[in-house]
Amino acid sequence: MGEPLREVELLSCGYSAKCSVPWCSHPATTILRYLDNQGRPYRQTDVCETHARELCVEMKVIDRKRRSE
Ligand SMILES: [Zn+2]
Repeated sequence: MGEPLREVELLSCGYSAKCSVPWCSHPATTILRYLDNQGRPYRQTDVCETHARELCVEMKVIDRKRRSE
């Protein structure tokens, strides 16, 4: 039995913050919200566009940045 695929939600970062990756100095544009296997958020972090992509590798991404219009 392997570990189930972790899920992460992407949300727009509506406030100004710095990417939480220590060596990165870009502004955060995205909030990554990690979900546990019940779909409950257990951790969130603000990151730039590049790190948002990197940190989501091999995770199931739920993109909530795009609003249906
Ligand atoms: Zn970054």
